[in-house]
Amino acid sequence: TVETPVHERPPARIGQIGLRAKSVILVGSGKGGVGKSTVAASVALTLQRLGAKVGLMDADVYGPSVPHLLGLEGRPAVSEQKKIEPIRLNNAMPVMSMGFLLEPDQAVIWRGPMLHGSIQQFLKDTDWGELDYLVIDMPPGTGDVALTLSQNVPIAGAVVVCTPQEVALLDAIKAISMFKKVNIPIAGMVENMSGFLCPDCGKTYDIFGSGGAREKAEELGVAFLGGLPIDMTLRVAGDEGKLANVLDEDDRARAPFEKIVRAL
Ligand code: ADP
Repeated sequence: TVETPVHERPPARIGQIGLRAKSVILVGSGKGGVGKSTVAASVALTLQRLGAKVGLMDADVYGPSVPHLLGLEGRPAVSEQKKIEPIRLNNAMPVMSMGFLLEPDQAVIWRGPMLHGSIQQFLKDTDWGELDYLVIDMPPGTGDVALTLSQNVPIAGAVVVCTPQEVALLDAIKAISMFKKVNIPIAGMVENMSGFLCPDCGKTYDIFGSGGAREKAEELGVAFLGGLPIDMTLRVAGDEGKLANVLDEDDRARAPFEKIVRAL
């Protein structure tokens, strides 16, 4: 049987919660700094560019970086119906992040029940509207948030981001087994920093020896969704809060994400 493409499925009210999205996609990693948030935001933006209605939820409550990458700030308002109004990117894509609720540099010590509560609130009390996809940027490593999500929404799949270095790969394997433990299907692996895209000549140099993730994915029986070179354009865009602008304007920066999204 061929599954109905997600765009053609009727929006489902998921479980007991208010969220209406046809597909919930998680983006996780075994450790921080591997480009998980960049991939999560870029996958959301690329899906939107392909015509889908997309929401982006930053569940990386320990280090919310989505607002920074997209140059978003502000405090979400609460409507009369007690719904949290997400911050919208270009008046379109709804984004919700702990970063909107904290003072800059404010650290949070999350205890289990509080973490559970805030994630549930992000899901069910945010006015997401009707979505085709909700992309969720996960905190690296730990399983608490994954467990809460798996208990509250059916998840289409988790994308696990890693880098070619062996240590990061071992971390990625841990992330995969963590998702499996809470019955979240693995959508596949993405290898970030897979080579270096030379800004002058446009050639990609294989400085770490890429392909490790592809091999590991095969070994683990999960899909390999694609690689993403180190691209200075992306780094500068992220630092300046212009990731969305760059993905809009720069075909070369966008290409690897289109490949990843089409492989999902
Ligand atoms: P994580 O969410 O895993 O902690 P981020 O997505 O915040 O990682 O990325 C960490 C830093 O690396 C950011 O400054 C980001 O702009 C940069 N970065 C991520 N992926 C790439 C890439 N492929 N090329 C260049 N810079 C990247």
